[in-house]
Amino acid sequence: MKIYNTMSKTKEEFVPLEEGKVKMYVCGPTVYNYIHIGNARPMIVFDTVRRYFEYKGYNVNYVSNFTDVDDKIIKKAIEEGVTADEISRRYIEECKKDMEGMNVKPATKNPLATEEICGMVDMIQTLIDKGYAYEKNGTVYYRTRKFKDYGKLSHKNLDDLQSGGRALLVTGEDEKEDPLDFVLWKPKKEGEPAWQSPWSEGRPGWHIECSEMSKKYLGEQIDIHAGGEDLIFPHHENEIAQSEAANGKEFARYWMHNGFLNIDNRKMSKSLGNFFTVREIGEKYDLQVLRFFMLSAHYRSPLNFSAELMEAAKNGLERIITAADNLKFLMESAGTEAITEEEMQKYEASARFAAGFEKAMDDDFNTADAIAAVFEYVKFINTNTGTDNSKEYLEKLYSRLAELTDVLGIIIDRKEEMLDADIEALIEERQAARKEKNFARADAIREELLEKGIILEDTREGVKWKRA
Ligand code: AMP
Ligand code: ZN
Repeated sequence: MKIYNTMSKTKEEFVPLEEGKVKMYVCGPTVYNYIHIGNARPMIVFDTVRRYFEYKGYNVNYVSNFTDVDDKIIKKAIEEGVTADEISRRYIEECKKDMEGMNVKPATKNPLATEEICGMVDMIQTLIDKGYAYEKNGTVYYRTRKFKDYGKLSHKNLDDLQSGGRALLVTGEDEKEDPLDFVLWKPKKEGEPAWQSPWSEGRPGWHIECSEMSKKYLGEQIDIHAGGEDLIFPHHENEIAQSEAANGKEFARYWMHNGFLNIDNRKMSKSLGNFFTVREIGEKYDLQVLRFFMLSAHYRSPLNFSAELMEAAKNGLERIITAADNLKFLMESAGTEAITEEEMQKYEASARFAAGFEKAMDDDFNTADAIAAVFEYVKFINTNTGTDNSKEYLEKLYSRLAELTDVLGIIIDRKEEMLDADIEALIEERQAARKEKNFARADAIREELLEKGIILEDTREGVKWKRA
């Protein structure tokens, strides 16, 4: 299995630190709003990487943080007149709903930066003790030039950075020993969330969060560290400088970065305002379509978002699900049970599609080619099944299809949509239960509907409902 490592700029054979195990850290979103579909790309891509490792029999420890203390969160909190904590908690919940809709598996652990401050303070202290950091007026800086390997991930040269850095110097930063130094701890400004530390009441810099959380939940050395390519510099470069200086060993074996999701060939981002939230896309499409669209390109290639490509993804997905539906239909009415000799041969021959799928995924997770293998398999299913097939043969074909699509996080078991009439009947029953003060039943109905994706809203004009 080969993985493109940003560090070496080559595809390398994957060798885990510990046999049968993968320790993986993926930088998560800053939670100050609904996530946009650019943020969704690393979530979908690295969830697929995880799923493929699991398919290959690895035990994956998958850690992905939420950055819940940040200038943007504070700004939003001030705008709304609420606490920063309220903003981050709200958007973590919303983000988790989006992830569920995109069938992103829950991480083994989602650490929150604000719950890990103690460990960050300890790590900063270690860096000071080792001479890699220094304090000035309550701020702690990392002494970048002291870390000899600085620039090894982003392939940047310190002197080029130095000339760029000078131009970027902002007020208050002239207390740094060197313009290349970056912040590990900063004192609070009025009204900002803050924690005690030996240097000032304040908060950690962004980079130290990931160094600490990765160490705490995965250990000093991990197999894979991942995120979008905008994180290579400075975020991941700084993480390496912090972790390797503090722990005295190589931080991550493989560095994986996804390309940008673009719109009109420009990076989709909140600051440019050219984004769609996952929520907005979910109103028009099943989020499975979004997932399928994301995986239709190689994760390192830029991907341009367009309505045409989403329609193509929708049609492609429909083709796979229709084949699964047909198999299920045939399975229900299959006459004979046991597989015949001829069917067995056909089934065995169809293993070539799974082999093609694996070959693509083994080559740096080439999901585009893996999907092509699934389409070939679908074609095989469509031309090699009928009413005279045995149940066992059909089931075998179905399980293989389900197994491959599950690696991609695509669910082929079509969700049965509730009919409007059934929903309305349940709402009526709930109204009757309320009249009789049977609130337990009324609540149970609301829950039952919610599970099926139906949201109830009690308004002055009566009960309204919508599909989630
Ligand atoms: P942020 O909330 O900006 O820190 O981003 C969270 C994750 O989303 C990071 O891994 C980013 O690299 C990634 N990301 C943000 N915008 C895009 C985009 N347009 N395309 C791909 N990845 C993105
Ligand atoms: Zn990070």
